[in-house]
Amino acid sequence: MLMKNYSRVNLAFKKGFGSILIDETRRDFVDFSSGIGVCSLGHGHKKLAKTISKQASNLLHTSNIYQITPQTKLAEKICKLLKSPYYLFFANSGAEANECAIKLAKKHGFKKGIKEVEIFSLSNSFHGRTMATLKLTGQDKFHPQDFAPYPQGFRFFDSIDEIITNLNDNTAAVFIELVQGEGGINPLDKKKVQNLAKILAQKDILLVTDEVQCGVYRTGEFVTSQIYDIEPDIITFAKGLGGGVAIGACASKEDIFEAGDHGSTFGGNFLASSAGLCVLDELQKLKNSGKLDKTIANFTKKLDKIAKKFPNLIEKRVGLGLMQGLVLKDNTNLNKIFENAIKFRVLILKSGKATLRFLPPLNISQKEINLGFKRLEKALSELK
Ligand SMILES: *Cc1c(COP(=O)(O)O)cnc(C)c1O
Repeated sequence: MLMKNYSRVNLAFKKGFGSILIDETRRDFVDFSSGIGVCSLGHGHKKLAKTISKQASNLLHTSNIYQITPQTKLAEKICKLLKSPYYLFFANSGAEANECAIKLAKKHGFKKGIKEVEIFSLSNSFHGRTMATLKLTGQDKFHPQDFAPYPQGFRFFDSIDEIITNLNDNTAAVFIELVQGEGGINPLDKKKVQNLAKILAQKDILLVTDEVQCGVYRTGEFVTSQIYDIEPDIITFAKGLGGGVAIGACASKEDIFEAGDHGSTFGGNFLASSAGLCVLDELQKLKNSGKLDKTIANFTKKLDKIAKKFPNLIEKRVGLGLMQGLVLKDNTNLNKIFENAIKFRVLILKSGKATLRFLPPLNISQKEINLGFKRLEKALSELK
């Protein structure tokens, strides 16, 4: 039996190809969710399947006490795409990538002589489900007394301005999602982020961008930091990096861990690293061919059209690249639209209190986009 920690939809998928999923009763669904931004190459991707299968028959895992060549290669590839040298640690999830970043921030603070390290984040952020990343998450509903006590030293603020005002001698790091994924698809203001980055650099406080959801080409560039023209001290990755294989990564400008400071049994093993390498190769090709930018333009156009067609339901479109949202006028419609979309066989996600979230596979075809929006339109029409 399974724990009841998820509120699951009564749908069971069996197969997938491209951005189409087939359930056990053979109905087809258009996937505008990619398993929460994970299946960046869609489903049943031939090259990724072949890479994984070939790696599986050679070697799945050794452990990090030995050299793992695909892991080294993946680190090099990420640095190349970041256009800057970073030191990489590989984990298995977003929360674990952030845990690594928290430890790096604490050690950075300790080395500076801070006795009681503070780490700042933003309201409506989401950083994971481990005890520390839960406390780092800037939403009180994630800190119920059921799970107390929580780790100390985490403070969250309503705005970048407030973060700047509250910086003090104990602040070791500031974590931000450049586009908040769970908090309603909120892209932060570019000027404010750049100003924050400048101030933090002056004060030797680390800027950490949690790109677990918005990274790996999701918003149109390899990392959203590139769109914001900043070079964070630490960047964390996960969701889209393995195309469905569990992987997390923490990239840091500073290499301050000693041997034994941190580790992971599975992190960056042969299977996950070779999946990551294949995903990055394929996505880089998609970007360089101009296809990704074209898909983003088309998808955005479709969303704008739908927002215009249902002004009673939709307030506005928000987001960047293929990380998009439609903010609803009335948040009581959120669940209704989510369920109606399933009825008309298009899969979308919810975000925050009133936002429909769209995270389609990055290689979604025009035909799949058209079909998905046709179905979404029907789902919305029923509520109009
Ligand atoms: C999903 C997410 C996480 C947590 O990732 P897991 O792999 O579920 O641990 C952390 N940060 C952001 C921004 C996320 O979207």
